[in-house]
Amino acid sequence: MSTGGSVSFGSTLSCTMRCPLCATEDTRVIDSRPAEGGGAIRRRRECLVCGDRFTTFERPVIVATVVKRSGRSEAFDREKIRRGLEFALADRPVPEGTVDDIVARIEASARAGSALVTSEELGKAVLAELRNVDEVAYLRFASVYKEFQGASDFEREAAALEQGNDGASVS
Ligand SMILES: [Zn+2]
Repeated sequence: MSTGGSVSFGSTLSCTMRCPLCATEDTRVIDSRPAEGGGAIRRRRECLVCGDRFTTFERPVIVATVVKRSGRSEAFDREKIRRGLEFALADRPVPEGTVDDIVARIEASARAGSALVTSEELGKAVLAELRNVDEVAYLRFASVYKEFQGASDFEREAAALEQGNDGASVS
């Protein structure tokens, strides 16, 4: 009863994607590579009928839930974390891909376990990451996250940061 264009269910690898241009299912993957710091896979696909090439992304569907201080919850927003990191790390001498790597680690930890985190835990996770990467970025983020009221808060945080350095000071 099989007809020419039927999908084979015999192999787990025979997952075709319809061509966005001509709608045929005769497409193939010509390239696969990690994207977004390893949290996704980017595939280039080619239509065997019309020759169109298109890109697909594969991402886990587990979405972490973030519980805010107000008690309301929202879906984990990777772009929000990215914006916070980009603000903190603007013009700082850090390796390319630092933001991507941190976003990926934070998202992975947010998804772990029950995939439920508080906004406070997220903020602390970002601070812990920045602390390892760049002191200025850490203080920038802390000044926003901890809603510093004035210079004294900033100085206290800077002092706490220095104490945590175990004497390994950088001039
Ligand atoms: Zn096509």
